Amino acid sequence: MSAEIKGLNEECGVFGVFGATDASQLTYYGLHTLQHRGQEGAGIVSTDGENLYQHRDRGLLSKVFADPAELKRLLGKAAIGHVRYGTSGHNSIANVQPFLFRFHDGGIALAHNGNLTNAITLRRELENEGAVFQSDSDTEILIHLIRKYINKGFIPALKKSLNIVHGGFAYLLLQKDRLIAALDPNGIRPLCIGRLTNGAYVVASETCALDIANAKFVRDVLPGELIIIDRDGLHIDHYTTQTQLAICSMEYIYFARPDSIIHGVTVHNARKRMGKLLAQEHPVDADMVIGVPNSSLSAASGYAEESGLPYEMGLIKSQYVARTFIQPTQELRELGVHMKLSAVRGVVRGKRVAVVDDSIVRGTTSKQIVQMLKKAGAKEVHMLISSPPFKFPCFYGIDVSTRSELMAAHHSVEEMRKLIGADSLNFLSKDRLIRAIDVPDAGDAPNGGLTVAYFDGKYPTPLYDYEEGYLKSLNEQERMVRKEQVK
Ligand code: AMP
Repeated sequence: MSAEIKGLNEECGVFGVFGATDASQLTYYGLHTLQHRGQEGAGIVSTDGENLYQHRDRGLLSKVFADPAELKRLLGKAAIGHVRYGTSGHNSIANVQPFLFRFHDGGIALAHNGNLTNAITLRRELENEGAVFQSDSDTEILIHLIRKYINKGFIPALKKSLNIVHGGFAYLLLQKDRLIAALDPNGIRPLCIGRLTNGAYVVASETCALDIANAKFVRDVLPGELIIIDRDGLHIDHYTTQTQLAICSMEYIYFARPDSIIHGVTVHNARKRMGKLLAQEHPVDADMVIGVPNSSLSAASGYAEESGLPYEMGLIKSQYVARTFIQPTQELRELGVHMKLSAVRGVVRGKRVAVVDDSIVRGTTSKQIVQMLKKAGAKEVHMLISSPPFKFPCFYGIDVSTRSELMAAHHSVEEMRKLIGADSLNFLSKDRLIRAIDVPDAGDAPNGGLTVAYFDGKYPTPLYDYEEGYLKSLNEQERMVRKEQVK
């Protein structure tokens, strides 16, 4: 473990429906379109108005529900589901959501996308008071808090609890007679509402899940909101009014599906604009532009369009390889990139290639790509990154929580260029990134309503449990830099 706390970070997908026949089947389809948000585990809890039914397991959704009987068993007209992306080492079934808790006064199912920044403190306090946790996920904390304050009534207890947990969170809760959605005060994670033609409501991490369910987009859930859906319809309530939009910019840069619309911005269009602005900011002398499939193709097409250079397919991706990003060792991650990506020799041989990728985190992918393209005969490889250098960790639910692993935290752009072996390396600036995304509901929120802390270290919330370790890592780095200068 480094100086920073290596938390259980989860960038997941949630989907819920209330009032539809075959609610669990619909949830399955919704989760299927959200599979890119998590592949380590999946589950659904449904209710028929009396009982709650659960099925969850590790692995891809199609594996978890390989036996159709499992889905048929999940009766009722309401359901919530979850696809999980956890870091390695914590991948036990106990952490697979939705969690289901059975109390004498009724059951509650809970699904969570995000990461709490005060989870360690809260868990210790709750355990000291006698709580017994079943999992090591942050998510369970909310239920223990709700039970602690339940004598006030469920909704007041939930509101109080939502004011105690901090960080990035999009929660879905299911009781036998209602579905509840709640979003953190900065709206760091995306969450939206849709409506089916029969009047049933759907809530999902991304609009691509509304499309598959044939639901019409109603609105995004806004920071601090508590949405309650029951037999009487949809009720919009708040647990806090001290809110300010700071949606995670990595959703637009890398995570979300290109066809999703988050706060009025189509993700593909935002990425394409990032590519266009990158071309304006950093033109290169090259024969062609290629993207790194799949997440960078939109940005690469923008770069090509703006620069006037031909857009080519210089890299292809195997459809059958799982994620490389969370492999536990560098060796395995490098092997993973090779299994995932291959250079198209006949396209790149003898050419000067401009490669657009969305981000450099540890630098594994870029280094492997440069080697691959050069081995395939590329004359020059110019790396263009459609986001700024990723220097500071994310504590709100993407799997980048330790500073020690971030290449840009320890190296200048020129050093990074040498390390990855490229002929040139350039990044999109923060201001242009914000301009490219251009969130229309941002109002006067700083940074155009985005969290860009990964690039400038200015977090929209206090870091609580992470603060001490984070500051220590900054000091350690300063010491290292000074030592280098003395040498
Ligand atoms: P790295 O190889 O460590 O430099 O990571 C950068 C690559 O991983 C880029 O090609 C991104 O598309 C992808 N990426 C960026 N952030 C994440 C993340 N949080 N989880 C998984 N993949 C990511």
